[in-house]
Amino acid sequence: MTAVVFEKVRKTFGATVALEAFDLTMHAGELVSLLGPSGCGKTTALRIAAGFERGDSGTVSVNEVDLTNRPAHKRNTGMVFQSYSLFPNLSVADNVDFGLRTRKVEKAERRRRVHETLELVQLGDLAPRFPHQLSGGQQQRVALARALAIRPEVLLLDEPLSALDAKVRGTLRDEIRRIQSELKITTLFVTHDQEEALAISDRVGVMSNGRLEQIGTPVEVYRHPANAFVARFVGSMNELPGTVAGPSAIRIGELIVPVSTIVSRTQLATGTSVNVLVRPEDLSLGAEPKSFLGALGVMGTVTSLSFQGAASLVGVQLEQQARLVSVLLSGSTSHPTLGDKVQVVIDAKHAVCELSG
Ligand code: ATP
Repeated sequence: MTAVVFEKVRKTFGATVALEAFDLTMHAGELVSLLGPSGCGKTTALRIAAGFERGDSGTVSVNEVDLTNRPAHKRNTGMVFQSYSLFPNLSVADNVDFGLRTRKVEKAERRRRVHETLELVQLGDLAPRFPHQLSGGQQQRVALARALAIRPEVLLLDEPLSALDAKVRGTLRDEIRRIQSELKITTLFVTHDQEEALAISDRVGVMSNGRLEQIGTPVEVYRHPANAFVARFVGSMNELPGTVAGPSAIRIGELIVPVSTIVSRTQLATGTSVNVLVRPEDLSLGAEPKSFLGALGVMGTVTSLSFQGAASLVGVQLEQQARLVSVLLSGSTSHPTLGDKVQVVIDAKHAVCELSG
């Protein structure tokens, strides 16, 4: 069942186009993240879903009811902001009770729901405290409980973890996912943190300039980016110069590499210059020059080593291509030392090519 549908939504602020032909369909119980660079329109989309903004054109419906022109206070949405936005003069319990009180829920039911929701976010013991007596992570749990207590049709999360330190952010991220899955609540999550988006989402929508560039599962957007923008924005990419050698093959230096995605509306003529985008984990270091289906070796010199615990990033200056590439080595493989001459082997299965220049 579709739960939230944006159809051809356009939103401008003066000369700024915040959303352009924005289409998004969210299924019931799904967590969808909107990911993209600053200013790409993520928050605008979320605010339109909440009813805080109205699009210039297009429609938004929730559970098949057109809400395009319905104001925020008449929608049943729960919202959590980056700044916890708790009422400082109300206790934790009263903050969570707030939405229930304004909706005139009966008193015994309110008490039951406050208790139940605080247990859900693991704050049952802190009900009498005030916001200033809580850590940032605890305050954000209260904000989440407040949003959930009203049993919203849709949960909207606007960078809810950005103000928290890394450790708390990781824990709360997993908690949000657990609660969201348990309640099966349709959730739109706005973030500019790709790791966060990939970790907790059913699907990730990657945006740029007010448009949805791609929507897919975390694996799809990471492994099969629809275009070079998505490829670059999600995860990191090495860029190598190449030329088209056939319908699905690229020449890099002396070697021919089969690739799966050549981003172009028309078939590119043999000899056309392209950028080949390859992830650090699709590069490896080999002792012997290799060239076989899906793999390619090019010579270079190790210029940096960065130990990252479970893996290491090795910087290699390629000789012929005059490019610096990063190679991700798992902790268990043998590591080179600075200055070593190495063979960089490229597994090009997931490489993306775009026209250069
Ligand atoms: P960030 O990650 O920085 O929060 P975002 O992707 O959420 O960015 P939006 O906040 O949706 O982006 O903004 C999209 C564009 O619309 C930006 O260029 C922004 O400056 C502009 N914009 C948003 N709200 C307003 C407003 N109230 N008045 C004028 N311009 C606005």
